[in-house]
Amino acid sequence: MTDDRDFNSASFYQFLAEKRLMASRCKKCRALYLPPHPICTKCHGDEMEWAEMKGNGKLAAFTSIAVGPSFTIEEGYDRNNPYVVGIVKLDEGPKMSARIRGLDAKHPEAIKVGTPLTVEFPDQVEGKGCYLAFKA
Ligand SMILES: [Zn+2]
Repeated sequence: MTDDRDFNSASFYQFLAEKRLMASRCKKCRALYLPPHPICTKCHGDEMEWAEMKGNGKLAAFTSIAVGPSFTIEEGYDRNNPYVVGIVKLDEGPKMSARIRGLDAKHPEAIKVGTPLTVEFPDQVEGKGCYLAFKA
């Protein structure tokens, strides 16, 4: 299926709102980009296509955040209720940062790199669409 949306982060968030995790893929060398790029940094090709990611990956790095931006405070996160942000390495190869749910943010020492994760598309507060998260 073809999709003629531009290869940029606006399209990326549009897809998220449709609950799809989409990367751009270089037609020449098959490199994947997340968030999507219009130009391939590996072979400098400018022919991209959309590729839907299955949404399975592993935790590559993480941090537990006790003092976050205002929208996370609105969601109820604070020093007593921290949340986890991590780098996820997808099975397809690309890495990206995302909120990680289902881990004990109060005990980051117990969180293990390599934990299998699955994509989620939680709704933001006040109907601002979806954000990217992964569930342990
Ligand atoms: Zn390329």
